[in-house]
Amino acid sequence: MTESLRLAPFAPSGVVAFVEATSGQTLNDCYQCGKCAAGCPLARASDLSPQQVIRALQLGQPDVALDSRAIWLCVGCQTCVTRCPCEIDLPRVMDALRVWAMANRRAAAQREVPIFHRVFLKSVELLGRAYEIGVVGGFNTFSGHFFGSADLGWPMFVRGKLKPLPQRTRARGEVAAIFQRAEAMRARECAAAQRDAGGERP
Ligand code: SF4
Ligand code: SF4
Repeated sequence: MTESLRLAPFAPSGVVAFVEATSGQTLNDCYQCGKCAAGCPLARASDLSPQQVIRALQLGQPDVALDSRAIWLCVGCQTCVTRCPCEIDLPRVMDALRVWAMANRRAAAQREVPIFHRVFLKSVELLGRAYEIGVVGGFNTFSGHFFGSADLGWPMFVRGKLKPLPQRTRARGEVAAIFQRAEAMRARECAAAQRDAGGERP
């Protein structure tokens, strides 16, 4: 005789609760159809598909998601969002996992991604726009890939794609205000992530 398996409803806690609250998504809405994974342009390069990231969270195994390269490689292209029959916003889920990982000082499986984000955003914060040579120099220095993309630099410079000196925009004040609001939001989300880490579900 076959026995039925009854799954008791549970109140999400820890990472799962944080991800749901921050992303505004209900993870159990996903019924694992796989349409997101089939369309994700990074699925081949990644260790987990977006479908598997959600599944790990549904099964109470957030470490599988947090230790994956997938959450860092997701570029937020929205392909999965447009394909999902349940309208789950996966990039928001990935964002929330990244916030959790950074707030709780978890090593990124793809360490170059947060380094690039930090260097790029610092450039925009200081100048109001990206200074490409500074971004590449900062990224290569902090990532340890000292001569990364060096072969591309000269051809781009010759074609006028790279400015030798940084340029500031007139809208620096507006950009600075955006950074201030984003920093306040980041601080709130980090505090919530660190608080929820206390009740993390095993
Ligand atoms: S497309 Fe939506 S419902 Fe289907 S597996 Fe992906 S997230 Fe889940
Ligand atoms: S938003 Fe991220 S997870 Fe979704 S399809 Fe694009 S890269 Fe893949």
